[in-house]
Amino acid sequence: FSDIVEEARLSARALLDYGESFFNPTVRLGVTGLSRAGKTVFITALVHGLSRGGRFPVFESLASGRIARAQLAPQPDDAIPRFNYENHVQTLIADRRWPNSTVDISELRLVIGYQGQNGTDRTLTLDIVDYPGEWLLDLPLLDKSYEQWSAESLALSRQQPRARLAQAWHAHHATLRPSAREDEQATLTAARLFTDYLRACRDERFAMSLLPPGRFLMPGNLAGSPALTFAPLDLPAGGIAPDGSLWTMMRRRYEAYKDLVVRPFFRDHFSRLDRQIVLVDTLAAFNAGPEALYDLEAALAGILDCYRVGRSTFLGTLFRPRIDRILFAATKADHLHHTSHDRLEAILRRVVERAASRAEVAGAAIDVVALAAVRATREAQVRCGREKLPSILGTPLAGEVANGQPLDGNTEVATFPGDLPTDLKGLFSGNGAFRGLSTTAVDQADFRFLRFRPPRLQNDGTRDPALPHIRLDRALQFLIGDRLQ
Ligand code: GDP
Repeated sequence: FSDIVEEARLSARALLDYGESFFNPTVRLGVTGLSRAGKTVFITALVHGLSRGGRFPVFESLASGRIARAQLAPQPDDAIPRFNYENHVQTLIADRRWPNSTVDISELRLVIGYQGQNGTDRTLTLDIVDYPGEWLLDLPLLDKSYEQWSAESLALSRQQPRARLAQAWHAHHATLRPSAREDEQATLTAARLFTDYLRACRDERFAMSLLPPGRFLMPGNLAGSPALTFAPLDLPAGGIAPDGSLWTMMRRRYEAYKDLVVRPFFRDHFSRLDRQIVLVDTLAAFNAGPEALYDLEAALAGILDCYRVGRSTFLGTLFRPRIDRILFAATKADHLHHTSHDRLEAILRRVVERAASRAEVAGAAIDVVALAAVRATREAQVRCGREKLPSILGTPLAGEVANGQPLDGNTEVATFPGDLPTDLKGLFSGNGAFRGLSTTAVDQADFRFLRFRPPRLQNDGTRDPALPHIRLDRALQFLIGDRLQ
């Protein structure tokens, strides 16, 4: 019965969304990606560019002058934190520092006034919803028992390179007896060590992506609650959990996680999105090696699986807005010379194609782009001995180390980013065809771990100064171009 009430409530809300969108055309754009993929920077640059006349030649409605204005407006959902645009813009432009990353869901509304192709004045409301991609990876948990999840998580953690990172957790885990009495302290320690292990996997040297439960790394406002305090146990196949045991306690919390965290997210937020951009730090995974690319592929397959949610019920198919365009974007392309941008795109396309063939996505158009929402580097030819090499120039953040010396945040450094491979056949095999990027820097700085400061605004004297970017306009054209006709 509660399912029917729930379904009726969802359908009523979907109808409201639909009605509102009918009178007031609205696109709910989801911006997601794993931690540090570039969500905050992307949204800040997108809103700044749209509202301040960014240089977007491929974004037809803006380039042709049909967009008259884009202004922020109060957001529709009272229960979602507002995306802190003003602060982020101030940090990015005035302080030339990167803003704080996404740790929770947030929302921002932008109202775009434009002239239709037939000359009439129109508005499009763009609701941008920013949320951690880690949360999407929780979807498969809904179909899994605690016992299944435990067995799978343990098996995964026993494979290299994860096993090395799981040592401390495994050592503690070996001291636990599932049928022993429930024990808060043991559970807290297990959850802490398990989370440390997940975090170590996320470290940029390993760049692993597939790490549910997603809230363990991105707890949002639930940090420290029992629903986030559990860990896998080694359980006897077919065994029964004794009352009052550690096993029962862990299982109860795992179920609470699904009920209080996973289901509400998919029901209240995810199912209401119309369009989605998934930002992917493809370079980080590429640099970490074939396991990280495999892992990324599995994570993207998991993410793609989510787009089938909400299509299964009759009312759902009738009324619920559905995602009909998904853009996968390889971010931070400004770490590469422009000759490699197409290759970066091709690498992500390969990963997405493999993931899509596993996830059987139907009904949504999928595209791939390599972009830099904010371009922190310039290109130049730098003389190295007798040769002139194509290089990128940027100002590393204060404290970054180049040539053994900490930099002051005001020194420009040139690097020669290695070339990405043109032949992608061996990318996943690890049989020698794959190689991480190598780089020769003028000053031996390793660009892979060098973080550049955000750039100054570009001022061409004719319009408002704008942030430089790479292919942000292509992303916009795919995501909302058709809704501005
Ligand atoms: P989030 O966790 O997905 O919100 O990631 P952020 O947007 O906070 O980005 C994480 C970090 O990646 C930033 O602090 C920057 O150092 C870097 N970054 C993100 N976008 C760009 C970009 O377009 N260019 C460059 N050079 N760095 C970027």
